[in-house]
Amino acid sequence: MADPIDFSTPDPSVRELLATHPDLSLDAHDGLLFEQVPLETIAHHVGTPCWVMSSGTLRKRAARLLGAMEAAGLSVSAHFAVKANDHLAVLRILSECELGADVVSGGELLRARKVGIPASKIVFSGVGKTDVELRLALEERIAQINVESVEELEIISALASGMDREINIVLRVNPDVDAKTHAKITTGVAGNKFGIPYDEALPLYRRARELPGVKAVGYAVHIGSQILTVAPYRAAYARIAELVRATRAEGLAVSVVDCGGGLGICYRDEGEGSPDAWAGAIRAELGDLDVRLAIEPGRWIAAPAGVLLASVVLRKAVTGGASFLVLNAAMNDLLRPSLYDAWHGIVPLSARDAMGKPEVVSVVGPVCESGDTFAQARLLPHLQRGAHVAILDTGAYGAVMSSTYNARPLAAEVLVDGHTWSVIRPRQTVEELWGNERFPDGSEEAA
Ligand SMILES: *Cc1c(COP(=O)(O)O)cnc(C)c1O
Repeated sequence: MADPIDFSTPDPSVRELLATHPDLSLDAHDGLLFEQVPLETIAHHVGTPCWVMSSGTLRKRAARLLGAMEAAGLSVSAHFAVKANDHLAVLRILSECELGADVVSGGELLRARKVGIPASKIVFSGVGKTDVELRLALEERIAQINVESVEELEIISALASGMDREINIVLRVNPDVDAKTHAKITTGVAGNKFGIPYDEALPLYRRARELPGVKAVGYAVHIGSQILTVAPYRAAYARIAELVRATRAEGLAVSVVDCGGGLGICYRDEGEGSPDAWAGAIRAELGDLDVRLAIEPGRWIAAPAGVLLASVVLRKAVTGGASFLVLNAAMNDLLRPSLYDAWHGIVPLSARDAMGKPEVVSVVGPVCESGDTFAQARLLPHLQRGAHVAILDTGAYGAVMSSTYNARPLAAEVLVDGHTWSVIRPRQTVEELWGNERFPDGSEEAA
């Protein structure tokens, strides 16, 4: 697997981006197609900004990942990380691909249940699950809660006993392995808020076996996101294997290891994380432990299955510098470039635009923040006011992170499937935006 982005290489051309995105293609007449659907058709009928997800890409990638695990001889239950894309239509497609759900809130748990994902395929992660959320998990009898602290373990035990329930728990361990990804998406080094420090895991496992209402069944690890090399996985899993052996040496049973998610994709030219290499790391380090294995993929499945369509509002010339291309999509729609300096491919929808003469531009949104920048000094074909573009790889951590900052309604969402397409969320209206706001009537009085 390749190293993270090397910005000394030139920006990939449209042709190079299409080569790494097999479900996108450029037709001389219809322009950019997602599966068989011309994206210009969607931009024309639905308007922009507009998210477009591909059912086919979701299905293929889910199958590819599960296939890699199977080919490595692993029996793995896969739980889609719902936070990557929680749209009901997306969750239903993935549940039809036999994926369960990894949820981090009560809302995500209910979304998973809403599309019929059985509770027995739901795991619940996160550092701050509230009592209300934990009671919901207990009532639903989900497969397992991934516990992140001693404090949380005690709260779960008390709640479960009070409800006369017993729930499977696994301890999420912080293996202190640096996934060498962006600081804001690294989760497995000592000192960040996630997981139980490695040395405290076994004592806590012992303690869990004594507490009522909880059944300690194993360990979980999730070291971060957009991981492209196999080394951090191997290092983390080796530490977990060591922990499983140490736990069993005390006569305590361990039947589950949850390997987390984090496999990366090719946004620019970094190459994508290989499911086969990931499966190989799991097999090499955990394959002979005789445990039930789980994975929690999010980005790898969903990111390449989505694009964000936008229009060029205007070109703003800058004396002596790169012109600004101002889009009608912004950081409130797609936050990743502002939040993580993320690089996303940008491809014109019209074939003629895509063939245009390249120039260096900065691509920005209209929101009143300097951080509202999609691309700085990017080599793109020359685009005029009104041109349409697709921002690639926005199917994960895209629409789910949108806000309505600057009173910008949430963008429409469309799903393509073969040669058909459907609106799966109409564009929010400004009236809906303020629909729940009230003027004060002074009707409540402080006691
Ligand atoms: C976010 C998250 C995932 C998914 O990460 P991806 O990088 O999207 O694969 C899996 N497990 C946990 C606990 C997470 O927080």
